[in-house]
Amino acid sequence: MTNELKRYYSDLRDKNKRLHDQRVEECERKNPRFAALADERNQVLLQLASGKMTPAAVKSRIGMIGAERANLLIRMNLPGDYLDPIYSCPHCEDTGEVTEKSGKTTLCSCARKKQQERMIAGSRINKEETFDRFSEAIYPTEEQKKQGLGMKRFCERYAASLPRPEKPNLLIVGQSGLGKSFFGNAIAFAAIEKNIPTLKVTAYQCIQSILDGIDAREDAITPYLSTQLLVLDDLGTEPMVPNVTIETVFRILNERGASRFPTVLITNLDREGLFERYGERVASRMIDGSLTSIVVLRGDNLRTRTR
Ligand SMILES: [Zn+2]
Repeated sequence: MTNELKRYYSDLRDKNKRLHDQRVEECERKNPRFAALADERNQVLLQLASGKMTPAAVKSRIGMIGAERANLLIRMNLPGDYLDPIYSCPHCEDTGEVTEKSGKTTLCSCARKKQQERMIAGSRINKEETFDRFSEAIYPTEEQKKQGLGMKRFCERYAASLPRPEKPNLLIVGQSGLGKSFFGNAIAFAAIEKNIPTLKVTAYQCIQSILDGIDAREDAITPYLSTQLLVLDDLGTEPMVPNVTIETVFRILNERGASRFPTVLITNLDREGLFERYGERVASRMIDGSLTSIVVLRGDNLRTRTR
C-alpha cells in the first residue's frame, strides 16, 4: 500500500473513532446506565484475561450486556448498533487490507477502488484541453498559427491510430509556453474516449511516486509500465535522484518499447539537452527514429504573448 493510501485509512479510522466517542459520550450523558454497562464489560474482560471467568461465561455475560445496551438505545429511538465500532468498510475495518484464508494479506476492494480513483486524479487529464477546444486564435503570428495547426493535425492522427500507432512513441519538443502540454493532454483525452487505459503525469510526479514507493517498500513503477498509453509531461524537470531517475526512465522506455505500448514524451530539452541529462543509453532510445516520431514546436511563448 502506498504511504498516501495508508494515511487515508489512518485518517478514516481517526474520523470514525471520533464519531464513535461522540456517540458514547452522548449516550452516557443521557443515561448513566451506559457508563455502568461499559465498566461492567471491562471488568468481565479483565476477569477473562486473569482466568477468573471461563470464556463461555464471559461470552454469555457480554451478550447480556450488549442486549441491555441495545434495548436502552432502542428505547431512545436509536438503532440497536448505535454504539458499535464504526467502520466505513466493515470488510477490512478501514485498514484497506484483508487477510485471506491462506494467511496472505491483500488489498481490500475498497482500497483497490481508492487506488484507481487516485490514479485517475493523478493522471491530471484536463477536460478543457482537447482537440475540439483547440483554438488557433492563441497564436500571435501566421507562422505560429500554421505550425500549431500542423501540430494539431499530426497529434490527431497519432491519437486516431492509438492503441497501435505505426511508430509507438511521440516526442514533443519545444520551449515553455508553446502549448506542448495542451497537445499531450488532448492525446490522452482522445485515448480515454476510446477506452484506452491512459496515464498522464509529469515526470516530476512520476519520479516522486517512485520515491514514495521506495519508502513504502512497494513497486510503484508498474502503473507506468502496464498502462496502455503513457503521456509523460515536463520531462527534464523531475529531480535527478541517483540510481532512481535515469533507471526509472530507462525501464519505462525499455519495457514499454518491448510491448510496443505507445508513450508520449514532452520536453523542453533539445537533443543535446536529452543526451546531457539522461546519457547515451536513455537519450538514444528517446530519439530512436524507428520507434519515435519527433515533433518540434518553435516560436514565441503563448502564455506571455496572449495575456
Ligand atoms: Zn475495505
